[in-house]
Amino acid sequence: MSGPQVIVVGAGPVGQSAALLLARWGVRVLVLDQRPGRGRGGSKSICQQRDVLDIWAAAGAGRVAEEGLAWTTARTYYRDRELFSWSFEREGPLPACVNISQTRTEQILDAAIAAQPLIEVRWNHEVTGLSQDGSGVTAHCGQRLLRAPYALVCAGARAQALRSSLGVAFSGETFADQFLICDVRADLPGWEDERRFYFDPGWNPGRQVLIHPCPGGTYRIDWQIAPDFIPTDIDISRKIRQIIGGRPYELLWHSTYRFHSRVASRMRVGRVLLAGDCAHLVAPFGARGLNSGVPDAENAAWKLAFALNGWAGPELLESYHAERHAAALENLEVTTATMRFLAPRSVAERTRRREVLEGGRAAEVDSGRFAEPFWYVDSPLTTPEPTRPFPGRPPKGTPCPPAPGVILPDVPLPGGRLREFARDGFLVLLGDMCDSRLFAQVLGKVIRAPLAVRGLAEMDGTGSLAGRLGAGPDEAWLIRPDSHIAAIIPHAGPESVVAAVSRALGGFPDT
Ligand SMILES: Cc1cc2nc3c(=O)[nH]c(=O)nc-3n(C[C@H](O)[C@H](O)[C@H](O)COP(=O)(O)OP(=O)(O)OC[C@H]3O[C@@H](n4cnc5c(N)ncnc54)[C@H](O)[C@@H]3O)c2cc1C
Repeated sequence: MSGPQVIVVGAGPVGQSAALLLARWGVRVLVLDQRPGRGRGGSKSICQQRDVLDIWAAAGAGRVAEEGLAWTTARTYYRDRELFSWSFEREGPLPACVNISQTRTEQILDAAIAAQPLIEVRWNHEVTGLSQDGSGVTAHCGQRLLRAPYALVCAGARAQALRSSLGVAFSGETFADQFLICDVRADLPGWEDERRFYFDPGWNPGRQVLIHPCPGGTYRIDWQIAPDFIPTDIDISRKIRQIIGGRPYELLWHSTYRFHSRVASRMRVGRVLLAGDCAHLVAPFGARGLNSGVPDAENAAWKLAFALNGWAGPELLESYHAERHAAALENLEVTTATMRFLAPRSVAERTRRREVLEGGRAAEVDSGRFAEPFWYVDSPLTTPEPTRPFPGRPPKGTPCPPAPGVILPDVPLPGGRLREFARDGFLVLLGDMCDSRLFAQVLGKVIRAPLAVRGLAEMDGTGSLAGRLGAGPDEAWLIRPDSHIAAIIPHAGPESVVAAVSRALGGFPDT
């Protein structure tokens, strides 16, 4: 392959996803990782959210959704009493979430990478520094210098040296609370499709335990333990027995962890973007780690591809920081609130937690707000529409009605899923009163970025798609390559769509 166009630092799941998404845009990618190869180590992430499964499907890793276990019910207990349970509605073609080990996810992503000639992976390449000038970035791997027009740093939490070399601070907190996680294989009839959260069970008093079903009859058990406790094999066995009784089990992996809440001060420094754990760390309750790292990768990939092709200017890359940094701050806010409930730090917080649990006040029990896409409502790329204001974050588990900035609902169509039509460039969806041919003609003359124009009625053949989306007959909807709605334009004409596209390209004047 001739020289890379993007160097991705780190072959963790975020770097892998980024490489695949970049290659999907025809970009040549060099992935550098300091490790000697893919380890067989244990699993961190297990719970992957629908919109992330959608991104992986687009990247050629649809097997994650296929192999993952789509659990359906979440039960919450206080001591020996079930407080409440809720079930996932399957609203779209993909499950709301699946459980699958990070190890297996990385294997699936590796297989997709192996089939992609535009990606080269080099192990044993520790990047010790990055320097940049007006035309590109140089990655320093000891004496070796590797160069590309752009770099995407997905080097995980420990990439302090790289962050520092870029002048990026990573402020926040490391918490004293400690957790023990075990992956066990056991036959537990009735538990296969249920996630269970126990507050203060008799067998872990004053602390909580989370149990997640995973594929292949395995379970992830996550205990909150005393901050200074070093569990022995005997302790681990006793803890597992307290949950599963005398049934046979196999311990596949175990680890202890503490969590961090940190966000990088910048996610773009010139020609270098930062993504995933390298840019943000949050407590795992709510599964907002990898589930936000992958959207970072997607956001970065289309913007880097547009910059490389001359379809957009530096403002589009700067919008990567604006959008994904805001997403990271939201995740921090949500997970901090969760941790105040799970691991209260003051007498007032402890009292409140006890009152909420003893009173069975289900709406106030916070065991983690499950990851959801960030909505780019305030992004500079989004054209606001006063008749469709952002209604605010809906209650837990409820999708947000479509509005500028919000992600497009996924709807099955005769030729695929609606979002699949949006992945190759901008997509303009037109109501019945708009002349698709006229829009396509005008937009085709002035917009150089890839763009498709489709009539909503023609897309599903029944005319019901407009109704499902709530799109008016004179409206044009501009959809970004990451399926977020960039604009909803009433009384649309081609000129108003051109203006919205220009804005969605970061105000690129020569669209
Ligand atoms: C207990 C636990 C449970 C979790 N559960 C979930 C969950 O259910 N859902 C979820 O979404 N998230 C979860 N997470 C978070 C998830 O594991 C992380 O967000 C994810 O691993 C981040 O991936 P990454 O690619 O950004 O970083 P990493 O996986 O850390 O990968 C970084 C890569 O960069 C390489 N690297 C580092 N420095 C350099 C360098 N200088 N040069 C070259 N290579 C370098 C490393 O070798 C590594 O391969 C969980 C985390 C924990 C700890």
